[in-house]
Amino acid sequence: MNCLAFVPTKNGQATKAGLEALSYAKRCGATVTALMIGELNGDGGAGAAGASKVLHIEEHLQDEGQIARAVAAAADSEGATLVVAPHDHQGRAVAPRVAVRMGAGMVPGVTGVIEGSEVKKNVFSGKAMAHIQLSAGKNVLTTTPNAFGVDSDGSTAAVEAFAADLGEARLVVKGYEASSEDGSIPLPEASRVVSAGRGLKGPEHWGIVEELAQTIQATMACSRPVSDMGWRPHHEHVGQTGITIRPDLYIAAGISGAIQHLAGVNQSKVIVAINTDPEAPLFKAADYGIVGDAFEVLPQLTEAIKTMD
Ligand SMILES: Cc1cc2nc3c(=O)[nH]c(=O)nc-3n(C[C@H](O)[C@H](O)[C@H](O)COP(=O)(O)OP(=O)(O)OC[C@H]3O[C@@H](n4cnc5c(N)ncnc54)[C@H](O)[C@@H]3O)c2cc1C
Repeated sequence: MNCLAFVPTKNGQATKAGLEALSYAKRCGATVTALMIGELNGDGGAGAAGASKVLHIEEHLQDEGQIARAVAAAADSEGATLVVAPHDHQGRAVAPRVAVRMGAGMVPGVTGVIEGSEVKKNVFSGKAMAHIQLSAGKNVLTTTPNAFGVDSDGSTAAVEAFAADLGEARLVVKGYEASSEDGSIPLPEASRVVSAGRGLKGPEHWGIVEELAQTIQATMACSRPVSDMGWRPHHEHVGQTGITIRPDLYIAAGISGAIQHLAGVNQSKVIVAINTDPEAPLFKAADYGIVGDAFEVLPQLTEAIKTMD
């Protein structure tokens, strides 16, 4: 089976989510060609993650319609029956357009392979898993970031320039505004996250949350009401209507653990809940639970970590 992987780049390197999509395709036994767009250093890391070849478009494309045309053209030239892309902001916009162009089946947000051509994904806010049979002759999938991990065998792939009829750009990004000024790792890529909710009672109390996050080099997150009330910026909101995260460690203080919150955090490897209410639903999802007042527990935890060898 030939596969075309759309691998987004950042500063000349493949993004982690892009490499995961690539690794997924390679593990399915496909011969994988990566399409990479914009600045690229060498093969951008695609060879080590499983690409036999990289097709490269030097132009920095922003219009998702143009990117979709490029992906569909590359899939066609490679005879690909499978197209994979990361389920990130770009892959989510590009993949359905590619599926329409190819007349292919489409499964967004795949989280695992069952066997052969059967994949699974979260449904109903993470309360259930759908098992989906890929029965179309051609299929387009997006892989959920952090669901598959990145393979690396140290090899490199040959890079070929690729040209396609991209059509006209229908949108132009005029500029970017950083959502985070503190230089922390963006939430979807963070391996450690410290999060807090309404139990913190007001924005003036976030110092103790920030101190713990800084101490363990974690990224900050929060529950939805906290960002709705303007206590914290919207880009920190995790959950069903916010960002989905899968860190190695998720520490949540003063968060009850509503189903909509859990939908975005329940794939974390280790969950630590701090709550005064022993019946808080988050304790059921947690690996470690501390029944206690966040105003006492957070500073103690920070202090204890600071004094560890
Ligand atoms: C369609 C829809 C989508 C939604 N999407 C999201 C989403 O994406 N993300 C999200 O988070 N929510 C979402 N919500 C809201 C969700 O249902 C909950 O209302 C929300 O998650 C609750 O936030 P919280 O845990 O911060 O607050 P609360 O539910 O008020 O919980 C506060 C917790 O803090 C504890 N506490 C109080 N004082 C302390 C203290 N001193 N120390 C320690 N613990 C203390 C309390 O025991 C309580 O458990 C959504 C709701 C709907 C209807």
